[in-house]
Amino acid sequence: MLDPKNDPYFRKGDAKTDVFGSDAMLQPSPVDRIPQGPTTPEIAYQMVKDETFAQTQPRLNLATFVTTYMDEYATRLMNEAVNINYIDETEYPRVAVMCQKCINIMANLWNTPETNKWKAGALAIGSSEACMLGGIAALKRWRERRKKAGKPYDKPNMVISTGYQVVWEKFATFWDIEMRCVPLSLEHPTLDIDTAIKMCDENTICVVPIQGVTWTGLNDDVEALDAALDKYNAETGNEVCIHIDAASGGFILPFLNPEKKWDFRLKWVLSISTSGHKFGLVYPGLGWVVWKDKKYLPEDMSFTVNYLGAEVTQVGLNYSRPAAQILGQYYQFIRLGFDGYKNVQYNSLQVAKYLKEKVAAMPEFQPYAQEDLPNPIFVWLMKPEYQKTAKWTLYDLQDKLAQKGWMVPAYTMPANIENIVVMRTLCKQGFSRDMADQLLADIQFAVDELNKLEYPTPTRIAMEKNMPLVAKTFNHTGK
Ligand SMILES: *Cc1c(COP(=O)(O)O)cnc(C)c1O
Repeated sequence: MLDPKNDPYFRKGDAKTDVFGSDAMLQPSPVDRIPQGPTTPEIAYQMVKDETFAQTQPRLNLATFVTTYMDEYATRLMNEAVNINYIDETEYPRVAVMCQKCINIMANLWNTPETNKWKAGALAIGSSEACMLGGIAALKRWRERRKKAGKPYDKPNMVISTGYQVVWEKFATFWDIEMRCVPLSLEHPTLDIDTAIKMCDENTICVVPIQGVTWTGLNDDVEALDAALDKYNAETGNEVCIHIDAASGGFILPFLNPEKKWDFRLKWVLSISTSGHKFGLVYPGLGWVVWKDKKYLPEDMSFTVNYLGAEVTQVGLNYSRPAAQILGQYYQFIRLGFDGYKNVQYNSLQVAKYLKEKVAAMPEFQPYAQEDLPNPIFVWLMKPEYQKTAKWTLYDLQDKLAQKGWMVPAYTMPANIENIVVMRTLCKQGFSRDMADQLLADIQFAVDELNKLEYPTPTRIAMEKNMPLVAKTFNHTGK
């Protein structure tokens, strides 16, 4: 046997090399250039793993809306499908059909009136792509109408509240659409319908209400918006329609509030998008968009292929994309069924309500909205009277909780109410009542510590001086 010291390959890395006894572990990782030679898979694996492992446990990440827990079978199924490219439909027609089945299920959860067996919709990488597709279809329908009427079609606009997620800013910028924003205020914590209608004109391609606003967790009132638009359209002859950004609510309302009319049961709702990877309970990235009927999906945006007897519609901004998420979504539909989803969402909402009750009972805090939580998203702030004398801010609490592994973001509200700092917890599957108790204990401990401070913290001083209160460590609201 060769003495390892004399074996030129031993320290460089061969099958016998101990990972942490290798030369590679004394080297910095590549930053600018691809390394010249190869490294053993064990060492490469360890380096990549170690660069990412210091971060939070995803299950303790209460900042994200995105799924951080799936059961073993779902995980196995998805891992086994990592080598499948969804776009190769001819090679994997059964995956394409499974995707179309998911679209059908989504359409029916949202009470589609479409009578075709295969509903009009699309798979997306997340709500961002799904929102874009809904928006582009609305733009093209408006443009066609204007062309037919011999009217100019160069100044499209859309109406949304300032509580929008960043995708809408991208949509407006990329496609040159004027974004008309209805400000959120304390009196109008959701889309103010009267103001929205006043912003509409013949060039409005759509109004976008949100179900599960990223900043507040609240739902815009789609039924009232639909009624107001119906009146407005009748009076003006315009045809302003609705695309609903239901990134979160699209998977909550059908299960927890099936009576509530927010979806395709309403006249002017022509498309709805959601994130399969949020309350759809699938790992990222997965989104869905559904049109009320094929006729609302412009023909030049899509083409339809028949696989195994199913009409599969191809619409998308991206070409290649993972197929594993479709398997994950279809698995969840079969595994949980309607009642299973209902139970999971019910528990998440109950845990959110429990947190709300406990946090509201603390002398320092109050919930952002007084109303009953519509989604498992709890947002709270410091009581104004307490804030007057406090030596700390919610940013300090965020840091304290991060020391215990919890990611609970503090952030300022959008324009008009940007002086309000709030904190938000996303209560998702995988965050139980017991974990909520642990979080509450950590919040209490942190607050007790902060209350002992003699001098104000830097963020408190910044707040006093009206400096931009940033501590922009996260990007939770997507802005
Ligand atoms: C999360 C979210 C988006 C973006 O969705 P992704 O799935 O992350 O692409 C858009 N709108 C709202 C309201 C959201 O909550």
